[in-house]
Amino acid sequence: MSDMTKTLFTRIIEREIPSDMLYEDDVCVVINDIVPQAPVHMLVIPKKPLPRLVDATVEDQAILGHLLLIAGEMARKFSVDEAFRLVVNNGADAGQTVFHLHLHVLAKAADHDGFSELDIAN
Ligand code: AMP
Repeated sequence: MSDMTKTLFTRIIEREIPSDMLYEDDVCVVINDIVPQAPVHMLVIPKKPLPRLVDATVEDQAILGHLLLIAGEMARKFSVDEAFRLVVNNGADAGQTVFHLHLHVLAKAADHDGFSELDIAN
């Protein structure tokens, strides 16, 4: 893939762009969001550069399931498994800015209770 066609997240996955990478396996990576909207704000990103959720097909079912499992594992790892949100922005009008599928994992810090609507903007 040429640099022109690589997504921002592919460039992060390939270490062309630095990131705060928290986890990696054969299917996905997890990074800290560069502009966090909550005390915990991670992005779970498949290595396959699906532009949007709606571009996934039945062939991608295992990838999509894996992303959810890893989101849960990361929530446990960061001790926010009792209260976190998952967000997928699909399409520019829904706020998607990076057209490489990703799950936002949003939570307060582990020593806080619950959510307030104002805490999490995404
Ligand atoms: P979305 O608006 O749903 O497409 O989410 C894209 C997210 O990627 C935003 O929350 C950005 O803050 C985040 N982002 C953009 N560039 C980077 C980067 N270089 N490293 C980490 N997160 C990024």
